[in-house]
Amino acid sequence: MGVASMPTAFVASYGNGKPTIAVLGEYDALPGLSQVAEPIKKPLKEGAPGHGCGHNLLGTAGIGGVLAVKQAIDAGKVKGTIKYYGCPAEEIFNAKGYMISPGGVFEDIDISITWHPGWTNEIAVQSNNAMNSVFFKFYGKTAHAAADPHKGRSALDAVELMNVGANFMREHMIPDARLHYVITKGGLAPNIVPAEAEVHYFVRSPERHQVDELYNRLKKVAEGAVLMTETRLEIDFISGLYNPIRNKVINNVIYENMRNLGPPKFNKDEQAFAQELKKTVPPIDETEMKKIVPPDKWERAMKNLQEPLFPVISRPLGEGKVEASSTDVGDVSWYTPLGEFGTVCHVVGSPGHSWQNVATSVMGIGHKGMIKAAQIISLTALEFMNNPELVVKARTEFEKTFKEKKYKSPFIEGQKPPFHRFKNIEFE
Ligand SMILES: [Zn+2]
Repeated sequence: MGVASMPTAFVASYGNGKPTIAVLGEYDALPGLSQVAEPIKKPLKEGAPGHGCGHNLLGTAGIGGVLAVKQAIDAGKVKGTIKYYGCPAEEIFNAKGYMISPGGVFEDIDISITWHPGWTNEIAVQSNNAMNSVFFKFYGKTAHAAADPHKGRSALDAVELMNVGANFMREHMIPDARLHYVITKGGLAPNIVPAEAEVHYFVRSPERHQVDELYNRLKKVAEGAVLMTETRLEIDFISGLYNPIRNKVINNVIYENMRNLGPPKFNKDEQAFAQELKKTVPPIDETEMKKIVPPDKWERAMKNLQEPLFPVISRPLGEGKVEASSTDVGDVSWYTPLGEFGTVCHVVGSPGHSWQNVATSVMGIGHKGMIKAAQIISLTALEFMNNPELVVKARTEFEKTFKEKKYKSPFIEGQKPPFHRFKNIEFE
């Protein structure tokens, strides 16, 4: 418990010797998404968090997979070490990056396996955006907003001007980049010129260097707001993430196991529930789907996507494409070869981070996807334990990818990534 100075991060280990296989788990929820297992929006507790990304399933399936491997080790059927990584705060923070460095808890890992709840059954061949998460804090001077506003300098003005500048910058970003913010502090009352204001930004792009470039431009926008408002700026860097690197050797083993096991099977009640819930979900965006589904697979794909619960194991689609979301799983893939997949835990087309995802994450639909994921994880780990040459193959591909893409991993180079601000983190 408490690895990498994070009280809710942990590592569990079983077995001896090589190979050493890591299974990654996440368990954090999202604010304001509390929801009961009903096909209408209805919080379990108003304003409370909910599992809009299904991480209750994500963390638990990993434990299931690891326990099955433990049984096989105890029965003398396989040799090696299985490790479960309890990785907190994936949504807002980069716990995995800190667990690698300076935490050092991934050091002896040969390969790692993870998964994510989704609305298809598939291996993860697409990458995700690299990202920075940063607070911009502005400081001005208070004054009576009516009686003597000339004596004040508004930190909120600075936040607003920064956002205006950032929104004009959008036109001149690469199309795949993403920029979004929330104002986390905006003053206390309209009649007090706000002395403190704060805005939280996410900056995302397919490649790490693109995030760095865009972030440097965003800092200039913030400095421009300081000049205009005569305020002071503090930048509070939370974390940076890498884009995930895919490993075909591990993913192919996962894919074969998924095909052998078959998709999760849902009963009549679950199908009826999903049918009802799907009415609240926007229709499939065909333009987006056409980017990843080849023309000869289109008709069949659309037929499966009309179902409330995706009924088959999808062929790997979208290799070389980048999903706009981000994950700290990326950092692990810059340190060890990583395999990843998804199983059906949500209705087809369900938006990410939604109450619909929570509804199916806390009932049979999500639970079946979770059990299937646990089986896939355990079979994949067992196969790598039984075939050490597969581990060598996965690592060879890992090194080849770095060479081909001219990537330099700060973790492997033995340096702390320059964007990590570990020393500044304060825990309760
Ligand atoms: Zn997630």
